[in-house]
Amino acid sequence: MQVSIPAYWVANGFHTTVCTRHGAAATRTPATRFESAPAPWTWATLPLGGVVFLAIRAATRRVVDVPRWAYCDRCGRRRTTLLTAGWVLIGLMVAGFALGIALTTHPEHDVEQFGLDAGQAVGLIVAGLAGWIVLLFSRRAVIARAQVSRDGGEIRVRRAAPEFAAQVEAAMRPQAPAPLPR
Ligand SMILES: [Zn+2]
Repeated sequence: MQVSIPAYWVANGFHTTVCTRHGAAATRTPATRFESAPAPWTWATLPLGGVVFLAIRAATRRVVDVPRWAYCDRCGRRRTTLLTAGWVLIGLMVAGFALGIALTTHPEHDVEQFGLDAGQAVGLIVAGLAGWIVLLFSRRAVIARAQVSRDGGEIRVRRAAPEFAAQVEAAMRPQAPAPLPR
């Protein structure tokens, strides 16, 4: 179920006591940055080059910085696991290329011979790219499954846990007016 919350609420400190992904009791409420998804037309600029795409993306995206967002222990473990895996893969690439440089041979009257063959180098680059993608998934906003709406007015949570949806619904329900003094 998709749950929408006014962005100014969360920007001003509103948060639930359960996480969005599991609906479990929150054990941490770190600051989180949410972003809008790229507008579909921005992908059409991709053939112009990554730099153009990134510039247009940066100019058109909406960002909401939230002082507190609820995450449970499982959310925290998920983030730690993904962060670790991502950095291990990137570290593998860096270590591999360092090894390649260390193993570079200098035959006389000949071109220098890098210590890795092309296949090994491509493998290391693939490992590094995979690590970078894993790091994208470790971002708090991705763990929360939440994005800013394209107009910047709402935080939208995809496949929100029912417990989270219930808390948001209760908070958004109009309060009964106080009885008038007699
Ligand atoms: Zn959770």
